[in-house]
Amino acid sequence: MTRTTAAPHDEPPRRSRLLRTTTVAAVLVPLCLAGWLGWQAVADRGRDDTGAAHAAGAAAPPSGPFSAAPFSAPADTSPPGAPTASADPPTAAQAAPTADPTTAPTASESAGSATALAGRTVLLDPGHNPGNAAHTAEINRQVDIGNARKECDTTGTSTNAGYSEAEYTLDVSRRARAILTARGATVVLVQDGDQSWGPCIDARAKAGATAHADAAVSVHGDGGPPGGSGFHVIMPARVVAGTADNSAIVAPSHRLGLLLRDSFHAATGEPYADYIASQGLDTRSDLGGLNLSTVPKVFIECGNMRNSTDAKRMTDPQWRQQAAQGIADALTAFLTTR
Ligand code: ZN
Repeated sequence: MTRTTAAPHDEPPRRSRLLRTTTVAAVLVPLCLAGWLGWQAVADRGRDDTGAAHAAGAAAPPSGPFSAAPFSAPADTSPPGAPTASADPPTAAQAAPTADPTTAPTASESAGSATALAGRTVLLDPGHNPGNAAHTAEINRQVDIGNARKECDTTGTSTNAGYSEAEYTLDVSRRARAILTARGATVVLVQDGDQSWGPCIDARAKAGATAHADAAVSVHGDGGPPGGSGFHVIMPARVVAGTADNSAIVAPSHRLGLLLRDSFHAATGEPYADYIASQGLDTRSDLGGLNLSTVPKVFIECGNMRNSTDAKRMTDPQWRQQAAQGIADALTAFLTTR
């Protein structure tokens, strides 16, 4: 998230009262299995989906076109130590722990098939940018978010050991892209390590429309109080002010938010945040990325990077694969169910 001061939260979040029971679990079990099958199918050629990509185009201006991200051919250019699909096999939990291989649906029969998301476009918005810290003047520029003005972008937070939120969000987004692409989706990343900073939050919001996305998720890690842990999903409050009018996306974003809350929890075992939000859900009107979006969009704060337990999880590539699975499964459920 965007904690740039000592205060953990720049404004008290609104508490969501919009909780409801869903049947997402019934959908997600077969999705998880099918997702794993799809993951297996592409693992060998997906070695570059999680590798860093900071070299080429590092100086490209943030105002450039967003990164269309069809699944890439193998290019084993990952730097030493960079996680790869083959290095991070899914855990037992990812492989549908309750599934009986003799009775489980096949990939072609389920939403996890290679065509389940054919014709659908997903926007993934990795929060912040590893290069932001070196471009403070650019990211401190104020931009219009409809009901206020706010910094273009922020550096984000990090673990105490120095693993940055920007690294985390990019890695998880790439992993989620691999899963969704294997299901047939067109996946666009707002930035893919190919821009030296940013983009600004208003551009991140508008990227969904530019990509003609059916849904969008902004990936973050929080910088909360060290004693607090857990994840939460942030949904848009209705904002009609200035250039912002997100009325049309409030309801579908809420449905996406519920799916993401349940899916992420199931995939990772991460508890709901105990220091913010309610039951893992929050609704806010102060985030440009939600105020200005015209496609269904939510944020997820995957954990509190300032908390030692969450930091350990978020630093673990296998846990990040689970996080990506939860995000991909939620988007799949959103796009294949009503
Ligand atoms: Zn963030």
